[in-house]
Amino acid sequence: MTHEHTAFSRGLSSPICLTWELTYACNLACSHCLSSSGRKDPRELSTEEAKGLIDQFKEMDIFYINIGGGEPTVRSDFKEVVSYALDKGIGVKFSTNGTRIDQEMARWIASEAYLDVQVSLDGPREEQNDSIRGDGSFKSAIKALESLQRHGATSYKISSVVTKVSIGHLDELYELSNALGAQLRLTRLRPSGRASLIWSQLNLDGEDQRYLYRWLREHPEVLTGDSFFHLNPLGDALEGLNICGAGRVVCLIDPVGDVYACPFVIHESFLAGNVRELSFKEIWQTAPTFETLRQSREPRTCSTCSALNSCHGGCMAAKFFGGLGFDDPDPNCVFDKATSMAEVKAFPMPDLSRSRPIYIRPRIMTKAVSSQI
Ligand code: SF4
Ligand code: SF4
Repeated sequence: MTHEHTAFSRGLSSPICLTWELTYACNLACSHCLSSSGRKDPRELSTEEAKGLIDQFKEMDIFYINIGGGEPTVRSDFKEVVSYALDKGIGVKFSTNGTRIDQEMARWIASEAYLDVQVSLDGPREEQNDSIRGDGSFKSAIKALESLQRHGATSYKISSVVTKVSIGHLDELYELSNALGAQLRLTRLRPSGRASLIWSQLNLDGEDQRYLYRWLREHPEVLTGDSFFHLNPLGDALEGLNICGAGRVVCLIDPVGDVYACPFVIHESFLAGNVRELSFKEIWQTAPTFETLRQSREPRTCSTCSALNSCHGGCMAAKFFGGLGFDDPDPNCVFDKATSMAEVKAFPMPDLSRSRPIYIRPRIMTKAVSSQI
């Protein structure tokens, strides 16, 4: 392990990648939603509680937060909460489907130096995106991005989950991002939340992964966070974090104040506490769940792998919701060392209690059809 990895693995005094989901309410019903969002939870934090949490972030010297949901902008106090954080000197990046970014909001975003937005778009063409995110979602996202561009926003992004539907269209997606003045951010589909229900249809195969690795090597300016470090064994390491930071440098606060190790592991196994019962600092620094995660956890079955230092066994969330154990290789192990999900007898089911009763299922396109679009 490098020095950086050693420090990360022990955990830091504050998270450097804190995601705060403001609401489970959402006006769309994407088939791969990692938090199975749809309906507001009546127990969601009030405006005053949200501000109190921001005060705690300030005391912990957290200088930037990721806000998500659900769709965070459906909260009537969205702007008030974000402005409160900005006034405290805390930078905010928020994720949105773009439906509520009108001219006024675009102007506001453009006027705030420490407010960044990423608009979700899961393919460069309407049919591709809408097959996953629902009818009309492509047009809304493009309209939002055009508004941001028109008002002179400088650091907005397109955030795109790479799937079977979009893998053959990355060049086009990249060109679209450039045309809209946005930076492209690609993320990995993990079998979390509703994505577990469609993972086998949208998940990349080995050939797709090798193509993606080469494409990312050719486009180092494309942001990926910690999404693709499991591809590092294919050659030189990709840009971005190359170790799972769950509970070490990453965590999630959900809309009702529950704190989890990562946005992709909303499950009781990774629950560390609730901010209504303990301070966030106390949870982050002392929760047994996090202490366990900070102990060395290189998977035993990867111990003889020549690429262990660049992959570390992959993503904990992908393994857990893929029905695999911490000692197993990533389900997308590039050396095919993982047990196929098809062979796994039982895997954790997502909590769909907040999903709206009818949500749009993806009209999954086969590779052949996708390539003709
Ligand atoms: S579990 Fe996966 S998504 Fe979560 S921090 Fe680890 S690598 Fe990232
Ligand atoms: S065997 Fe483990 S460490 Fe090696 S590439 Fe596969 S998941 Fe990564």
